[in-house]
Amino acid sequence: MGKPTGFMEIKREKGKERDPLKRLSDWNEYAAPLSDEALSRQGARCMDCATPFCHMGMDINAFTSGCPIYNLIPEWNDLVYRGQWKEALDRLMKTNNFPEFTGRVCPAPCEGSCTLAISDPAVSIKNIERAIIDKGFENGWITPRIPEKRTGKKIAIIGSGPAGLASADQLNQAGHSVTVYERADRPGGLLTYGIPNMKLDKEVVARRIRLLTQEGIDFVTNTEVGKDVTREELQEQYDAVILCTGAQKQRNLVIEGREAKGIHFAMNYLTTTTKSMLDSNFKDGQYIDAKGKDVIVIGGGDTGADCVATALRQGCRSVVQFGKHPQLPTERTSDNMWPEYPQVFNLEYAYEEAQAKFGDDPREYSIQTKKIVADENGNLKELHTIQMEKLVDESGRYTFNEIPGTEKVWPAQLVFIAIGFEGPEQPVLEQLGVETKNNKVAAAYGKYTTNVEGVFAAGDARRGQSLIVWAIHEGREVAKQVDHYLMGATVLP
Ligand SMILES: Cc1cc2nc3c(=O)[nH]c(=O)nc-3n(C[C@H](O)[C@H](O)[C@H](O)COP(=O)(O)OP(=O)(O)OC[C@H]3O[C@@H](n4cnc5c(N)ncnc54)[C@H](O)[C@@H]3O)c2cc1C
Ligand code: SF4
Repeated sequence: MGKPTGFMEIKREKGKERDPLKRLSDWNEYAAPLSDEALSRQGARCMDCATPFCHMGMDINAFTSGCPIYNLIPEWNDLVYRGQWKEALDRLMKTNNFPEFTGRVCPAPCEGSCTLAISDPAVSIKNIERAIIDKGFENGWITPRIPEKRTGKKIAIIGSGPAGLASADQLNQAGHSVTVYERADRPGGLLTYGIPNMKLDKEVVARRIRLLTQEGIDFVTNTEVGKDVTREELQEQYDAVILCTGAQKQRNLVIEGREAKGIHFAMNYLTTTTKSMLDSNFKDGQYIDAKGKDVIVIGGGDTGADCVATALRQGCRSVVQFGKHPQLPTERTSDNMWPEYPQVFNLEYAYEEAQAKFGDDPREYSIQTKKIVADENGNLKELHTIQMEKLVDESGRYTFNEIPGTEKVWPAQLVFIAIGFEGPEQPVLEQLGVETKNNKVAAAYGKYTTNVEGVFAAGDARRGQSLIVWAIHEGREVAKQVDHYLMGATVLP
C-alpha cells in the first residue's frame, strides 16, 4: 500500500469525457483516460483493505459484485501510484486477457464492492485498468507471445466474442492449435457488432484480433457452423469443440400493430450501423437511418441506451426510451447494501447526450406500450401507452398494474425493440445435438461439458446475456477444462 492516508486526503476523480454535444458529431470514443499524475493519485486512494471485496467476483441478488476474473486490483493500484506501469501491466495480464475491453466498457462491479465505497466514492479501478493496458500498447510492451511448442491437438471454437477469444488465447498459449469460426464478416462478437464505436473503438478490437492471429490462432469468418461446417466435419478435424455462440436470439414484442413498417430489432440497428461505418464510412447507405425522425426505443436497458446514442449521432428529431421499471433511487436502499452492485440512478453517456441536445433525459419510466398504429400505407405512425404501477405481492413477487387515465399517444416514425434476449440460437445446437435447459446450453458452471463428448460451452450461450468480464472468465475456465480433457492435466492458470 503506497500511501496509507491517500483515501483520506484524495477525492475520487471521474474519468475524462468529451463534451456531450460536440461528441455527437462523430463516432469516436466518448471517454478518455486521466493524466498519469491523476491516475497515480487515484491509485493512492486504494486502502489495500486486507479482504479485497473488489475482486471476489460473485453474484449477489442476481447482480455481480466484485471482479469476476479476480483482477489483482490492490496490487496494480499500488504499482500505478508508484509509477511502475510495466509491473502493473504484468500483474493485470495475469488475470485479464483483454483489459482494453473491460477498461472501456465493463460496468465495474469491482467499484460497487470497493471497501472505500462504504463511506466514500470508490477507487477509480476501471480508469486505472484502461490506462495500464493503453500504456502497454503505446509503449510497445504488448508483443506477440508465440508458443514455443505445439501439442498436436486441434480445437475448434465456434463464435469469436469475448468468451471465444479468451478461450482461444488460453488454449493457444498452452500449445494447442486453435481455429475460431465466426459467421459474421469480422471477428469480435458483440465487441464488434453490438457495442457501438463510441463506447469501444473497433480498432481496439481489431488490434487484439491481429495480435491473436500473429500468435497463431486461425480465424475463419463468414462461416456459420451448422450450415457451412457440419458436425461430422468438426468431429473429423478437431479433438475438442467449444461453443461460444452467445445468446443473441432477440425477444420480440407481441403487440397489435407490430407489423408496421419502421419497427426494428435493436441489434439489427446497431449491427448495420457499425458495419456500414467500418465498410464505407456510411457511404454505402446500408443502415437504418434515424435522421429527422421521431425515435422510440422500447426497453430500458443498456442495449436501448446504445440505440439512443446511435440515433442522436444520426440526427434524429426526437428520441424517447421506454422502460417498464420505475426510476432507480439516487442512493442505495436498505435492501441493496454494500458490497452488492449499487442499484442507483445513473446518467449514462447516451442520456447525458440526449439531455445536452434536447434538454431532457430521454427515459420514460413505468410505461407499457399497448398498441402500435400505422398510417394508410402501413408506415409506423404512433404508439399508444399507459403508465404502470410496480407492486410486490405477498410472496415477494413483483407485479405491474395499469393506472387508468394515464393513456398517451406518441408520434414515431422509427421504433427499436430492445427488450432483451431469449438465449442462444438453435440451428447450431440442433446440428451438434447439444441439449439446452432454460434457454441456455446445458453445461454446468465449472465443468462446461455438454451432453456431447468433446463439446464444451462457455459465455452467454451457457449463462445467458451477461457481461464481457463474465465471458472472459468463462473463456479462461473452459480452456482449463479442455486442456485437462486433452492432456490429462492442465498447465493453465
Ligand atoms: C448492444 C449490447 C451492448 C452491450 N454492452 C456491454 C457493455 O457495455 N459492457 C459489458 O460488459 N457487456 C455488454 N454487453 C454484453 C456483452 O457484450 C456480452 O455479454 C458478451 O459479448 C458475451 O460474449 P460471448 O463471447 O459469450 O458472445 P457474443 O459476444 O455474443 O459472441 C458470439 C459470437 O458467436 C457467433 N456465432 C453464433 N452462432 C454461430 C455459428 N453457428 N457459427 C459461427 N459463429 C456463430 C456470433 O456471430 C457472435 O459473433 C452488451 C450486449 C449488447 C447486446
Ligand atoms: S474487469 Fe470489470 S470488474 Fe474487473 S477490475 Fe476491470 S472494471 Fe473492475
